[in-house]
Amino acid sequence: LGPSTYLLRAKEREFGAHNYAPLPVVFRHGRGVWLWDVEGRRYLDMMSAYSAVSFGHANPRLLRALNDQAQRLALTSRAFSNDRLPVLMERLCGLLGYDRVLPVNTGLEAVETALKTARKWGYKVKGIAPDQAEIIACEGNFHGRSITIVGMSSEEQYRDGFGPFPAGFKRIPYGDADALEAAITPDTTAFLVEPIQGEGGILVPPAGYLARCAEICRRHNVLLIADEVQTGLGRTGRLLACDHEGVHPDGLILGKALGGGLLPVSAFLADAPVLDVLQPGDHGSTFGGNPLGAAVALEVLAILDETRPWEHATRLGERLMARFRDARLPCVREVRGRGLLVGIELDPAQLRATTAAELLLARGIATKDTHNTVIRFAPPLIITEAELDAAADVVLDTLAAATT
Ligand code: PMP
Repeated sequence: LGPSTYLLRAKEREFGAHNYAPLPVVFRHGRGVWLWDVEGRRYLDMMSAYSAVSFGHANPRLLRALNDQAQRLALTSRAFSNDRLPVLMERLCGLLGYDRVLPVNTGLEAVETALKTARKWGYKVKGIAPDQAEIIACEGNFHGRSITIVGMSSEEQYRDGFGPFPAGFKRIPYGDADALEAAITPDTTAFLVEPIQGEGGILVPPAGYLARCAEICRRHNVLLIADEVQTGLGRTGRLLACDHEGVHPDGLILGKALGGGLLPVSAFLADAPVLDVLQPGDHGSTFGGNPLGAAVALEVLAILDETRPWEHATRLGERLMARFRDARLPCVREVRGRGLLVGIELDPAQLRATTAAELLLARGIATKDTHNTVIRFAPPLIITEAELDAAADVVLDTLAAATT
């Protein structure tokens, strides 16, 4: 470690809460797909802040939108309207095919918003007694870190010591539509699902899974709520990951890339019969729907509309996965993903994914494992084929060298 890295990390260890175990690097600036650390070393960002920096670091269009808006008006709270938010609302609803949107800030807030809406909808529309409502989630899910949300988690590490958790949630195996059908009761209001489990290990469910879930939910009058915080807005090679199966969920959760990697901007979208169960004063947040975030999100939607990155993400993702698979490395158990959301599951007896991430970092590839078994590759969608090929060379070389 260089001296600046060492000193900054020592300060962070001394004063920061120890809730993260960051990799041994301290970044100072970023541009496009590249990051530079405080020692001046350059890294290819294969992480994109958990898929949030989809349009690259310091994207000039997004910076301009941010600056222009910051100089005009940054925050009013929702006590007043601002002139950016209604435009964003109209665009989001038009683009994604919903009647209504509720803007908040982080992914977890949008998930909480969806859960609250689903419970109130169950009470007001389905007539479920308020203390009986049930929401179904999946094993291996990741939806954030609030007490309610970790209460839905199957990960002991996320839950340990944080209970008691709210009642009214149950879990079923991910990717098993029959399990959903079996779990639904008359008190079920919603099924919350990630179209691909990101933090769970880049798990792609079997083909037809989401479409079957949608059909089951429709038949039982249960809301299908898709958490596309990580998969949405082009990441998997379609606008939404649900689009791969032609599924239009009753509720849609967006975050991460919606704020262009500059600001936290998230949203919950649904049709009027669902979101209209919320009355003025029922739910809100000081920063939710602020004009600064709205201006950046509008520019994100404009970039998506003009650059249409889906085919690029699909082609490059398939190329990356093919290269990883074709190498037939003995430490690799499985290569999986969709678009530019790719994971390599390692055989932990041969190489731990945390070690792999550290080795890659030393070779100029910034990424992070999940669960110490899977290394993820989620570069900004603007990455070129040449940059991706160069990264794949380094990854294959590093993994081969680590296991011989
Ligand atoms: N949902 C999913 C699917 C996520 O991947 C994440 C973050 N990794 C979240 C929700 C939570 O988002 P945030 O960290 O912005 O609260």
